[in-house]
Amino acid sequence: MQSNIIDTMLNKNKSLIEEAKEQIKEVYLEDDRPWVVGYSGGKDSTVVSQIVFEALKELDSNQLHKKVYIISSDTLVETPLIIQSINTTLHRIQSEALKLGLPIETHKVKPEPEQSFWANIIGKGYPSPNQQMRWCTDRMKIDPANKFVKDKVSKFGEVIMLLGVREDESATRANVINSHTVEGKRLMKHSTLTNAYVFAPIKKFKLDDVWEYLLNNTSPWGDDNTELYKLYSDSNSGECPLVIDKTVKESAGSCGNSRFGCWTCTVVNEDKALNGFIENGEEWMRPLLEFRNWLAGIRDDRTRRMKYRMDGQIYFLNVQTEEIDEKLYAVLPKKGSRAKKVIPVDQFNLVQENELSNYLAENNIDLSAPGDDNILIEKNDGNYAQLGLGPFTMEARQEILKYLLEIQRDLNHPSDPSFELIQEEELRIIRRYWLEKGDWEDKLPEIYQEVMGYDLDWDFDDQPLFDREQITDLEILCERNNIDFKLVQKLIGIEKNYSGYKIKRGIYEEIEKALTQDYLHI
Ligand code: SF4
Repeated sequence: MQSNIIDTMLNKNKSLIEEAKEQIKEVYLEDDRPWVVGYSGGKDSTVVSQIVFEALKELDSNQLHKKVYIISSDTLVETPLIIQSINTTLHRIQSEALKLGLPIETHKVKPEPEQSFWANIIGKGYPSPNQQMRWCTDRMKIDPANKFVKDKVSKFGEVIMLLGVREDESATRANVINSHTVEGKRLMKHSTLTNAYVFAPIKKFKLDDVWEYLLNNTSPWGDDNTELYKLYSDSNSGECPLVIDKTVKESAGSCGNSRFGCWTCTVVNEDKALNGFIENGEEWMRPLLEFRNWLAGIRDDRTRRMKYRMDGQIYFLNVQTEEIDEKLYAVLPKKGSRAKKVIPVDQFNLVQENELSNYLAENNIDLSAPGDDNILIEKNDGNYAQLGLGPFTMEARQEILKYLLEIQRDLNHPSDPSFELIQEEELRIIRRYWLEKGDWEDKLPEIYQEVMGYDLDWDFDDQPLFDREQITDLEILCERNNIDFKLVQKLIGIEKNYSGYKIKRGIYEEIEKALTQDYLHI
C-alpha cells in the first residue's frame, strides 16, 4: 500500500519534471536570445540549473545554438563553506558542459570593490544593514547581477533570465509572479531591466517536488544532493536567491535569514548561516559569529556614530517623555540590540533648540568625534529630541578594521589557509576613502602592519599629505581663527582629488556641498 503511494508520488513528480524539461527545450529553441540562469547554491536554483543541463543534453548538437550563462553571486562576505561549495559546483558544471559540448558558461558576479560590505562600513562608515536600512542587497547582489545582464543585453539585444522562483513560497511571491506574467506567455517582463525577460520554469513546483527531484535524480555534474538536503535539514533556514529582479527581491524578505546569506549579515536577529555550521562542528567559524554579533551590537551605539548624516545634514530624533511621580523622564526606545532606557530629563544636558549652535561652539563639541555629549534638545514646539545618528566615527571604523584583521590573522580555515575575510583591493579603497575624509595620518597601513605584522605594497602616490606636526599647526590655526578643522580637511581632500587634472569638472559643486553642510550652519 505504502509503496503504491510512493510510486504515485514519484510518477506525479516525474511528469512535472518532464513537463518543465519540455518547456525548457521549447523556450530554448524558440529564439536566439541567450539565457542567464541565477544559481545561488540553494535548492530551487539547483533544480533549475540541473533541469536546464539535462534538457540541453537531450537536444541534438546542432540545436545548441545559443549560450546559457549560469551565474552566481559572490558578495565577498559569503559564508566560507557555502562559497567554497558554490565554487566547486560552478567548476564541475563548467567541466562537464565542456566535456559534453554544451554551450554553458559559468560566471561569478561580485560587487565593485567600492560597493563591497567593508568599503561601505569601514570605508564610508555606513551603519551595518538592518531591516529598515537594507542597503546591502542592491549594492552587493542586484547591481552586479544586473550589470552582467545589461552587458549581455548590449551584446545580444535581449536576454532571458531563468529564476528558481516558485508560487508556493509565499502568497506575495505568487502575486509577484502572476502580476508579471502576460497571460498565455511563458516569459515575464523584467521589472526594471529593459530588454530582459524572466522565465520561471519551476514556478508550479511545491517544496516536496523540489526535494523529490533533487534526491531521486543524480546531479549531472556529480554533486551530492543529499549534502544540500542536510544543509537545509539542520537549520530551518530559507533560500538566499540570486536576486536579479528587484520586485522578486522585495517579496523575498531577508536573504540573511538563510544558510546561504552573508556571514556578516546583521539584517537578521540570529545568524543562521554561521550558527548552523558551528553547531555541526565547524568550530573554527566561531570567531566570525562573535564578530558578527559584536558588529550588530555596536550599530546603534551613539558613542560610535557621528551626529550628522554623511552629507553633513543634522536631524532630530524625537524623544518621548513620561512623568513619573512628578518627575519628567525621557523614554529611549529599544533599537536593535540597544535596550529601552528611561532616564530623568535632568540627567541630560538640556539645550534649547535655538541655543544649540552656541552650545556646540561654546563647549567645543565635535559632532563627528566618538562619544556622546548627552544632549537633549528642547524643541521650539515644546517636544524633546536627540541629535540623529550618522555614519560610524572614524575611530569606530578603525576599531572594526582592527578586529576584522585580527580574526583574519588567526582564522584556521581547514581547507583554504589563504582564505581572506577582506580583500587587498577593498583595503586600498578604504584607505582612499579615509584619506579623502581627512585621515592625514594615514592610519590604515599602520593598523595593517600592527595586526598582521607585515606591510602591503602601498602606492607611493597615496603617501600622507602632512606629517603630525603640520597637522597640529593647522589645527591650532583653525582654532585661533574659529574655522572648522574638519571642513578644512574636507576642502583640502577635494582639492587633492582633483590635482593633476587639467579640467576640474565638478570641483565647485563639491566645494559648495562641503561649505553648505548643515552641521556648520545650525
Ligand atoms: S545576506 Fe544579509 S548582508 Fe548579505 S545581502 Fe542579504 S541581507 Fe544583505
